[in-house]
Amino acid sequence: MAPIQKECDYLVLGGGSGGLASARRASGMYGAKAIVIENKRLGGTCVNVGCVPKKITWEAANLAEKMRDSKAYGFSFEESAPFDWETFTQKRHAYIKRLNGIYEKNLKNDKVEYLHGTASFVDPHTVKVVLDDNTEAEIKAKKVLIAVGGHPNLPPVEGAEHGITSDGFFELEKQPKKVAVIGAGYIAVEMAGMFHALGTETHLFIRHDTFLRTFDPMVQEKVTAEYERQGMHLHKNSSQSKLEDLGNGMKKLHYKDQNGEGTMEVDTVLWAIGRSPELEKLNLGVTKVAQDEKKHIKTDDYQNTNIEHIYALGDVCDRGFELTPVAIAAGRRLADRLFGGQKDAHLDYSNIPSVVFSHPEVGSVGLTEPDARKKYGDENIRIYNSTFTALYYSMMEQDEKGPTSYKLVCQGKDEKVVGLHILGVGSAEMLQGFGVAIKMGATKADFDRCVAIHPTSAEELVTMK
Ligand SMILES: Cc1cc2nc3c(=O)[nH]c(=O)nc-3n(C[C@H](O)[C@H](O)[C@H](O)COP(=O)(O)OP(=O)(O)OC[C@H]3O[C@@H](n4cnc5c(N)ncnc54)[C@H](O)[C@@H]3O)c2cc1C
Repeated sequence: MAPIQKECDYLVLGGGSGGLASARRASGMYGAKAIVIENKRLGGTCVNVGCVPKKITWEAANLAEKMRDSKAYGFSFEESAPFDWETFTQKRHAYIKRLNGIYEKNLKNDKVEYLHGTASFVDPHTVKVVLDDNTEAEIKAKKVLIAVGGHPNLPPVEGAEHGITSDGFFELEKQPKKVAVIGAGYIAVEMAGMFHALGTETHLFIRHDTFLRTFDPMVQEKVTAEYERQGMHLHKNSSQSKLEDLGNGMKKLHYKDQNGEGTMEVDTVLWAIGRSPELEKLNLGVTKVAQDEKKHIKTDDYQNTNIEHIYALGDVCDRGFELTPVAIAAGRRLADRLFGGQKDAHLDYSNIPSVVFSHPEVGSVGLTEPDARKKYGDENIRIYNSTFTALYYSMMEQDEKGPTSYKLVCQGKDEKVVGLHILGVGSAEMLQGFGVAIKMGATKADFDRCVAIHPTSAEELVTMK
């Protein structure tokens, strides 16, 4: 059967965070004829296998921690059964399904046409979509946005396929009894933290001495030490050579760590070793769109690729921030520029706040101390540190208290705050407001002028000496 022919102003490949935001703005606000193609579930990584189900699971883990902590405050209760992972995941799946429906409704409201199928380029202006019923559509577009995101990688380790990735984390129907998580980035640290808090015996394998290595050294050292204090098994300076499926629901991991070579039997191995752009099916070669050595699409600050009418944003590009609000903001600005007459609209990628839902949470905006010293020189940098015990821990024994540490990285005579790094209970919610201040160019004196809110942990950030 001949493909259905369609035409549009704006063809958006990928119905994830960035693609949906851009298409809805282009059509809903500026009246462009926009079509979105998605081959899995609307909402993309964030809604289906990222931020949203992750944060819901983190809330469960957080409750488990709070229940343990509550004993120090005089509560006493017996758990009648272990955490009901099965019921929890079913409820979480149902919630995500509702969100998928809401996203589809939002597209309708903004008059964006939505096709469910897999897109691939035929030529730079034409995209073929294989629809669910195996029929094809061929779409000619004036402008094309590539927002196809990324996927988790498996390592080149024999038998790696017997393990799961972060996508598989959300499919686990039963709670693992013993898990090996491999990786040192935020996804590994968050998932290991959730398993551990919910009662799974958790082994976290990292390549060096610390994890979260793109964060400030204070964060790396304190959170790594805190995970050890909480009883998670950390395997430092580790590598893996083989993963065997033992056939009884168990896997055998062959590894090396600071103690030498070893093997470990676990029921789940989770690889969280990095992500790559999802370009395998796109036939990008015919467009001559330029990619970097890791296959990310190269763009300028305006999301332009090297091909005039093709744009890219979100995780398919590498702008240093693979985050949902970054993809959304870039998508909206791009629609403002292409269809809203705002010639200079683009996302400013500086001072983007980000958090890690570890235990405790981490928040970070701006430069790390080493990066600031490198950029401005030691003589132009002043560091303010505060490490203290949050009031939350006042009722606990010394060895039950978690860490709280804050750091301000200030630059120049005015002591402009160019970096803010915080870890401790409540850090994630705390960071957003400080993100505004730093984006506005706040100095240490501005921080000091703000009257403290007492008694909070955040007040330490405006009273540092
Ligand atoms: C475990 C995990 C936790 C995360 N937690 C957070 C968090 O707490 N906060 C945060 O800000 N970010 C978080 N992220 C990152 C965030 O999810 C991504 O940065 C964001 O989703 C990127 O949006 P995007 O639009 O670039 O791509 P995506 O959201 O990945 O959307 C791309 C879409 O394109 C579709 N697609 C791909 N190829 C084709 C094709 N050929 N045809 C049709 N459709 C196609 C895909 O199915 C996908 O739905 C997390 C990510 C992961 C994996």
